[in-house]
Amino acid sequence: MLLVVFATAQAGGVSDPTPSAILDRADAVKGTDFATFSRLVDQMAPHEADLAPIERSRLHFLQGWRATWQGDYDAGRRWLSDVVDHSTGDVLRLRAMATLINLLGNSHHYEEAFTRLTQLQELMRSVRDRYALFAARSEASQLLSSVGQFEQAEAYAKDMMENPPAGQTICFGAQHLLRARREANRLVSIDPLFERALQVCESTGYQVFAENMRADIAAFHLAQGRPAEAVKVLAAHRETMRRLDYPVLLSEFDATLAKAYLSLGDLANARRFAQSAVAGAIPNEFTDSRRVGYEVLYQIERKLGNASAALVFHEKYMAADKAYLDDVSARSLAFKMVDQQVVARKAQVDALSRQNEILRLTGALDRKEVETGRLYIVVLIASLAAIIWLVLRLRRSQLRFMKLARRDGLTGICNREHFVEQAERVLAYGARSDRAACLILFDLDHFKNVNDTFGHAVGDEVLKRAVEVSRRALHACDVFGRLGGEEFAVLLPDCSPAQARARAEQLRLSIAAAAGPHGKPAPSVTASFGVASTVPCGFELHRLLVVADAALYRAKRAGRNCVFMGDTGDIPDSPYLSEARG
Ligand code: GH3
Ligand code: MG
Ligand code: MG
Repeated sequence: MLLVVFATAQAGGVSDPTPSAILDRADAVKGTDFATFSRLVDQMAPHEADLAPIERSRLHFLQGWRATWQGDYDAGRRWLSDVVDHSTGDVLRLRAMATLINLLGNSHHYEEAFTRLTQLQELMRSVRDRYALFAARSEASQLLSSVGQFEQAEAYAKDMMENPPAGQTICFGAQHLLRARREANRLVSIDPLFERALQVCESTGYQVFAENMRADIAAFHLAQGRPAEAVKVLAAHRETMRRLDYPVLLSEFDATLAKAYLSLGDLANARRFAQSAVAGAIPNEFTDSRRVGYEVLYQIERKLGNASAALVFHEKYMAADKAYLDDVSARSLAFKMVDQQVVARKAQVDALSRQNEILRLTGALDRKEVETGRLYIVVLIASLAAIIWLVLRLRRSQLRFMKLARRDGLTGICNREHFVEQAERVLAYGARSDRAACLILFDLDHFKNVNDTFGHAVGDEVLKRAVEVSRRALHACDVFGRLGGEEFAVLLPDCSPAQARARAEQLRLSIAAAAGPHGKPAPSVTASFGVASTVPCGFELHRLLVVADAALYRAKRAGRNCVFMGDTGDIPDSPYLSEARG
């Protein structure tokens, strides 16, 4: 309607709208009518030099917004940085910062994204404009969620739900809240609030947000061991999703569907959706859906006994997994680095004010002469000591965050990425010195039942306990890591296949015999083991993982709570072995 009025006014030769009115119009329609928005921006661009400074900044913001939408990240970054760094209007700067943070996150410029986030958080304190604050909270919530800062992410999402600007609803905030809670593993059930928000998103035309929430709800069901529920949530909406032309989310849908169908044993559908998840993932981007897609394709081929296809997909899965984990860790490191810089800057400010204090004292000392000379020296030494203390403190926290980035949050042992790094190092050493090493993979048996019967919290305790007893059975030079869920790996340097089997057996007995904390009774749990040795397989970690995984799979099929060797003939028909040897 607005558009028609605007076109008529122009055609009828009525006095031209002011630049400010055109900019207002462009701003208002940018989310709903991209073509008109883009035309208005093009109309203004040639007159940039004639605009007042604040209007010029508004034009740059809109140009930056357009470039971001179109994925032209370099141009978007230039326009938006210009507004953030040079505009005099704080509301406009805040809006530009929010869009810039979104762009920087999407284009993997994490360190700059977090630096801008710090600026954004400072500016949010003085801006009152509800719309700009809403946009700022939205970007802050998403970026913080992506580095595991779930409490802050939730707080911003709740602010969005409590203070939506005119024309907005709980839809956006609820979607961010749901994602943060799910990723934080803090979702116990689907709160009716989310069901209601989903309806609101749909009835106000924000279908993408509604589908985003469905993706989370389905992923939650799947994680809770309810694949049929996950399929129910997604399958009915997949066609709507496809028509929305939003490939990132469609690929996420497909990855979850693929996993769910795999759990249900429907291999045909699992394959169809896994292929679609892989095909739909953004090229050259590190997405979880590509990783999941390849993992499912690998599992399918493994189940069907197609060794060479399984190996091909496993390699792709490992590559996608590594790229994804690299990206996740780049994100967290950038966050912690910027956090450090903020602390460092504060330390510098402290040091400066101390220096000023010394200068002031020196002035006073000049007057008081020699008698106070001693005091001057004492002050200098004290301030120096304070600065050294600050530097040491910074160094300590730097070491702490390096360590955090390598540890699994629940159990404290190596996370997958760090395990791979350490294991590859040990194997490289073994290869050089020609000393055999072995890899043990183990997976807790029927662990889903523990969660279903006793709840997730008890499940977590059981996981921690299993790690604790395993740890006691390991040597200092062994590399122990959590590969994901309830699956673990141990790399044993300088170890023969026979020794590895004995060590795995010892781990198996320790886990099966473990009591609860301080001897309290707890659900008993066992684990199945697969062992691979460098003797037949060579020193490549990837190959050892494939062989050990195949052996573990056989151990599960043989009834669980047992150890299978991947290299001794326990499994003469294993397709993986012939591959691995070939
Ligand atoms: P299997 O013997 O075949 O391995 O059976 P399983 O039930 O262990 O099989 P599956 O691997 O399918 O299930 C693993 C379960 O572990 C599903 C998931 O809910 C649960 N899980 C994964 N990570 C965690 C975690 O961090 N904490 C808790 N409590 N459960 C987890
Ligand atoms: Mg298991
Ligand atoms: Mg498992």
